[in-house]
Order: sequence, then C-alpha cells, then structure tokens
Amino acid sequence: MMISQNTTARCAKCNGTFWIITETGVARRCDCWEKERQNRTLKFASIPEKYKAATFQNFDIGVYANKGVAEKIKKMCEMYAEEFEPGNKGLYIHSQTKGSGKTRIAATICNKLIEKKVLVKFATSSSILEEIKKTWQKTSEYAESVLIDKLIMVDVLVIDDFGTEKPKDWINDKFYYIINERYINSKTTIYTSNYKLSELDYDDRITNRLKEVCYQIPFLEESIREKQATNNIEEFKTLYLNGNKGDWR
Ligand SMILES: [Zn+2]
Repeated sequence: MMISQNTTARCAKCNGTFWIITETGVARRCDCWEKERQNRTLKFASIPEKYKAATFQNFDIGVYANKGVAEKIKKMCEMYAEEFEPGNKGLYIHSQTKGSGKTRIAATICNKLIEKKVLVKFATSSSILEEIKKTWQKTSEYAESVLIDKLIMVDVLVIDDFGTEKPKDWINDKFYYIINERYINSKTTIYTSNYKLSELDYDDRITNRLKEVCYQIPFLEESIREKQATNNIEEFKTLYLNGNKGDWR
C-alpha cells in the first residue's frame, strides 16, 4: 500500500507536465493526461494484481455448489456498485470459510466503482496496520497523520480481512479513529471478514458503528479453492497431456 506518485514514461508533447500551452496562451490538458489520471487512480486504488481484471461479467458462479445464492449475492453487489453514489452505506461481507471469494467480490465492486470514477482504496487490514507502524520510524517518508488522512478522505475504502488482528489497544484506537472519521465525513467503507460483526474482538464502539453504516452480507460458506484445485488438474491435463485422456497418475 504505497502513496507515492507515478513518474514513469515522460510524454514528448508536454514534457511530462500534462499541460500544453496553446498558441493563444491558454493552458489545456495534454492528451496523455487521461491515461495518466487512470494510472494514478489504479495505482492509488491498489487492487491486488490477481483481481485487477475482475468484473461482474467474468465473476464465475459456476465454481460454487450453491449457485442460486452465489447468483443473488453477485447481482446485489453488481447493483450496489452500479447505483453507487458517494456517501452511500458500506458493506460488511462475511463468511467463516476462507477462500470463499469475499476478496474477489470486493475487488470486483472496486473495479466497477473505479470505472465510475469513484476514488477507491483497497487495503488489507494488516497492511493498514503495517503502514501505520512504518510511519513511526524516523526514516518514514511521511507522517502517520498523512497516511491516516488518505485513509479517511478516500471516497471508498475497502478493508479486506477485517478482524484477523489481535485486538491490542492501539489497534482498536486506530481502527476506531479511521472508521469514525470516515463516518463523520460520510465516506463509504467496505469490509470483508471471516467473522460476523457479533464475533469481532474489537471494542463495541467499532462494531456499533459498523452496524449503523454497513449492509451486512452473509457470504457463501464454501471454499472455491477446492474447486479451483480440481479445475487446475483438468487444466494441466488439457495443456500438457494433449488428448492423452488415459490415467496419468
Ligand atoms: Zn503529454
């Protein structure tokens, strides 16, 4: 989770300034600006590499045994993203089962929001805490307050894998501060978690806020990693055993 800026590949037309001065002396955005703006947005968003191309179109419900429920959740999330407006309530997507696809659906929502030019930031709960700890070092590029301001002011913040940390006092305090400031500033937060709100070890101030500002979505209790493993065996056969359908094990 970096907040540095992108400074690669300088455009020859504007010499990397993203502005062009016209003959009449008026400044206008260079043609390269839109691409740069998108790059910055994507970089800032920090969607995990694996999910950068995740869309509702390629969200495969075929990997779930319970396809009816998967389809419903997918549709709800798609509609939520399509109709999203800044200040809307957030989501608390939870299921005990790891590898059920919670991160994937959250990233898919993010990608849709980015398309709608909403400023989004995706971070795991542990990466937020790590970044905060890093700012305490003397060599840190920026102060803790700068990082926290970024986390507070982004339109949509995704906190992936919420509730995995041991609830030390400082962790409770930081999360409460971020969550509460986002609440006060009408910013939307989307969580994924292996815990129901009632099972979270954080203090009640946090869980009460979440109850107030999130739609709780019970996600599927099945691991798609198992299904993926089976698919991988089939893929391996197709790729490397050309037509050799015999028993290869
Ligand atoms: Zn340019």
